[in-house]
Amino acid sequence: MSLALENVGVAFGGFQALAGVTLAVEPGQVMGLIGPNGAGKTTCVNTLTGFQRPTTGRVRLEGRDVSALAAHGFRREGVARTFQAGRLFGGLDVLDNLACTGVGLGQRRAAAEHEASDILGWMGISDLESRPAAGLPYTDERRVAIARALMGAPRYLLLDEPAAGMSEKEAADLADLIRRIASERGIGCLLIEHNVGLVLSVCAHVVVLDGGRVIEAGDRAAILASDAVREAYFGA
Ligand code: ADP
Repeated sequence: MSLALENVGVAFGGFQALAGVTLAVEPGQVMGLIGPNGAGKTTCVNTLTGFQRPTTGRVRLEGRDVSALAAHGFRREGVARTFQAGRLFGGLDVLDNLACTGVGLGQRRAAAEHEASDILGWMGISDLESRPAAGLPYTDERRVAIARALMGAPRYLLLDEPAAGMSEKEAADLADLIRRIASERGIGCLLIEHNVGLVLSVCAHVVVLDGGRVIEAGDRAAILASDAVREAYFGA
């Protein structure tokens, strides 16, 4: 079981953003995706969630070729994501933000509200339920965006720079949450982060991209020992 890119290339006009990328996220695992700016991380996430079609290669979900599936199809098939900016419905309260997503996934309103309330409770943020999304402090907004992504019990969750703009303490709390999402809910997570320390502390497996190619993949020790990674980040 996995959500995988198989030898994926993505070209924008003549520009090759990804070339021959192969990686797989497994249920219950937190995988990290790091690399310098422009390495192709967001393009990977977009391709794994139907926001970008591969030019070559395949996207596979539990072995099935889903390369042609649209973004809402991925969501319905259990692949959720968060965005760099929250993208909440500002005019609705937090519970409604989650419930609307559930309804969009085919749930009845009452069931969606029930699940929304459960998720907020599980995350320890039930106090936010009736707060308008528009007025939320930044870190709460990010947590609500993650809560919303958990609606409909996805099997995979892709997090695009969830710790951006957070303090060290807030990032550590976020790291705990991501670990719990994987271990307690069995969700396979892919974490893109500029904060490499956070990635190495949370992820058992890390893939490093540079120039649209995988230049290293392995556990924390392998990444820290890699000459290719050092060169990509520090040019030495
Ligand atoms: P990262 O997330 O690692 O910073 P991206 O995946 O955002 O990298 O981008 C990889 C490369 O592809 C960059 O050079 C970027 O400018 C280019 N790129 C991304 N999206 C597009 C697009 N829609 N059109 C043209 N070029 C793009």
